[in-house]
Amino acid sequence: MEGSIIGAAFEQALQLRAEGREIFDLTSGEPDFATPGNVSRAGHEAIDAGATKYTPTDGTEELKAAVALKFQRDNDVVYETSEICIGAGAKPLLYYVLLSILDTDDEVIIPTPAWASFPGMVQLAGARPVLSLCERSTGYKLTPTALEAAITQDTKALILNTPTNPTGAVYNKSEMQALGQVLEAHPRIIVVADEIYEHLVYDVEFTCFVHANPNLKERTVVVNGASKGYAMTGWRIGYAAGPVEVMNTIRKLLSHSAGNPTTLSQLAAIEALTGPQDQVQVRAASYKARRDKAVMTLNQAPGLAVERPDGAFYLYVDCSETIGRRTPDGDKLENSADFCTYLLQSEGVATVPSAGFYAQGALRMSYACDDATLTEACRRMVRACNALV
Ligand code: PLP
Repeated sequence: MEGSIIGAAFEQALQLRAEGREIFDLTSGEPDFATPGNVSRAGHEAIDAGATKYTPTDGTEELKAAVALKFQRDNDVVYETSEICIGAGAKPLLYYVLLSILDTDDEVIIPTPAWASFPGMVQLAGARPVLSLCERSTGYKLTPTALEAAITQDTKALILNTPTNPTGAVYNKSEMQALGQVLEAHPRIIVVADEIYEHLVYDVEFTCFVHANPNLKERTVVVNGASKGYAMTGWRIGYAAGPVEVMNTIRKLLSHSAGNPTTLSQLAAIEALTGPQDQVQVRAASYKARRDKAVMTLNQAPGLAVERPDGAFYLYVDCSETIGRRTPDGDKLENSADFCTYLLQSEGVATVPSAGFYAQGALRMSYACDDATLTEACRRMVRACNALV
């Protein structure tokens, strides 16, 4: 298996920084904000109260109840706590969901550009990723026609990530319903809905896949977590909600591998989900302002084109027009990875080439960084494009 290209880009940036270069790191997929104070305090209190023992493997009943409340409050979807599992982040839970539902040689449809880990997880589960490339013309979203075309008799699952990493695309209710209609004719297919960027939407409303398609609830697993919306990446809390049979299998897998997620993190996550939610909105407004500023600047760069994404905290920048051009040193840019290397070497701006997301001709840059870093990085990207010959 290949390791993650995102990790490689980050490490390359770190290496140059260690050599004394000034680096503007836009590779990271985590909020630059701190965990909200009320949540951190709940974590402190948990330690002080001695909440340092094992919990049930799939999380406490209290946190599952908080997750159920969140689904009802934010998504108008009802889950029993028996239909919920807590894990050490959305990432391991996605893997456990796939391990639970896949048999050898099953196929899993993954719309691309996609988060790098989806195909790897499918392969680890012994199944086959089927990549369905979504074009810029469809807003990088899977269309019903493309979904239908990707389905075979071996298709066992569809992974739908909205808001999408790396493009920031957000599926609206009717788009999800149109995909749901296709799936209705294929009862074997399970939907794995990764909604980890739920709280990071701008100008549009977030819709949970199950809310859009209640008739598919019995074969949908929603995965979400505290990492992105509550700036809790290091606390490692994620959750999955879906059919009891799948949850029971995940419980068995957890019991023989990861065990329970960190006890004090579970208590902090209860506060995140049930406490005041105002910080979520404040931070989303800040991301939105950064997005708008960065999009405006980058669209002035010759050779770059970027749409204003509706969600997440990434810009997916089409740099295909820079390919074939030469750097001031005379090096020809053969692909977007060459362009990213050029940005890093010439301007110290670290981004991730789209090959890391199973697509070509683009790069991903995160705007989950402070304003000064983002502004200077964008200015340098424009300068780098102007210098191409
Ligand atoms: N799903 C997607 C699409 C992501 O981009 C990420 C993190 O980058 C995750 C899941 C993992 O989230 P967690 O930190 O909860 O494991």
